[in-house]
Amino acid sequence: MTAHKPTSTAQFRARATIAIKDIRLQGALDGATGHFRIGHDSALADLPHAHEMSRHLKAIRSSTLARLAEHLEAFERNAQAAGAQVHWARDGLEAGQITASIAQAHGVSLVTKTKSMATEEIQLNHTLQAAGIQPVETDLGEWILQLSQEPPYHIIAPAIHKTRGQVAQLFSEQTGQSLPADDIPRLTAEARRLLREKFLAAGLGITGANIGVAETGSIVLVTNEGNAEMVTGLPPVHVVIMGIEKIAPTWNDAAPWLALLARSATGQPLSVYTTFITGPAHPVDPDGPGELHIILLDNRRSVQIGTEYEEVLQCIRCGSCLNICPVYREAGGHAYGNPYSGPIGAVVSPLLFGLEAYEALPQASSLCGACLDVCPVQIDLPRMLLALRAEEVEAQIAPRSLRLAESTAAYVLGRERLMNLATSVLRLLQRPFARDGRLHLPDWLNPLGERQPPSLAKKPFRKLWEDNDDWH
Ligand code: SF4
Repeated sequence: MTAHKPTSTAQFRARATIAIKDIRLQGALDGATGHFRIGHDSALADLPHAHEMSRHLKAIRSSTLARLAEHLEAFERNAQAAGAQVHWARDGLEAGQITASIAQAHGVSLVTKTKSMATEEIQLNHTLQAAGIQPVETDLGEWILQLSQEPPYHIIAPAIHKTRGQVAQLFSEQTGQSLPADDIPRLTAEARRLLREKFLAAGLGITGANIGVAETGSIVLVTNEGNAEMVTGLPPVHVVIMGIEKIAPTWNDAAPWLALLARSATGQPLSVYTTFITGPAHPVDPDGPGELHIILLDNRRSVQIGTEYEEVLQCIRCGSCLNICPVYREAGGHAYGNPYSGPIGAVVSPLLFGLEAYEALPQASSLCGACLDVCPVQIDLPRMLLALRAEEVEAQIAPRSLRLAESTAAYVLGRERLMNLATSVLRLLQRPFARDGRLHLPDWLNPLGERQPPSLAKKPFRKLWEDNDDWH
């Protein structure tokens, strides 16, 4: 299991360079993100009034956040009325400790889990293991990553970077058999067999929540593999860890959320399983766990309310912005250093884990705006990336050498005669390296690593303009 890694500019560049050089990985990233993009586009094209629905969802998410405390209290009241026990966790450690203490109170040493970004965010598995409790991931992609001790590569497809050969190797180590990489049905059958033993043995199941519906205190889970049914239905105790922003006041408010989530994420009209859970088992509905605990996780969400970053809490974690992002599609998920990657990760990670620790991420964007265009909640990530960059400048977070270079550039660019002089000198200096419109610099002098930066044109544009009467 891996800890989150702080991400300085140098660290982001080093990790991204490894990903960019890996031709197989680049192919896998292109294939997966391209597949999701095509699915997303065709699913939304088939949905009547998709744009209006997206605006409606934004209005719901925005008005819900404006009265979040009220909706959370209603959720708590109604969940308790349905028989659930509700806990409030200020941060990830507290949420982990509450979960561990529920497990210990029931004498549980093995728990099963579904895929949940909130539990990845708080590194729940670390906390459970430290308490002597073995967590087992049961989403196939998450299980593969648990075996290989890696963080997720993508919000909705955590193991897209793994080859079938790597998966066969991991499963072979688990089963003690030599499993062939080209026999996918055999690999999945082995996974099913091994996980089934865990489903049956676990004393407690842990899930996240895609939506919490305040009017009935219900939880909505959106999954594709059927593992959530096993995790929530078989063990006697179910623990839900839900970020406080995942509230829909009513079922009517949850409807457009569900209509857009699977379409935006995977291109499905609905996920294979959409599970509604209201309270534990009771005489009228005797199936399911005898105890249901819902942990409402803050972890620096509430401090964003009322700030210029509040909008980021509207995110429904569909992953569309990753699939469209030219930086994510080259640099890959692990360059970001924590489970939230891509444009949403570039905003949310500095907010949740600290701007100093993740100073590279607001820069990891071309600001092309594709993430805003594709987002089902129309979240203005580029605006927030710029605001985070401004904070970095204000707090002088960038290395001194970079700040010095930037302020020198700003000084020169603001003075025409100085700029003309500087570009003339640079034109002379670049001569030994300039070829075919590029600078072929030695590695130690090249700020772009493997890539060759463009060289200065022989004639500046202003000179071309002066000399060319046809343009005037
Ligand atoms: S920011 Fe928008 S596109 Fe990105 S994961 Fe969140 S909801 Fe999806």
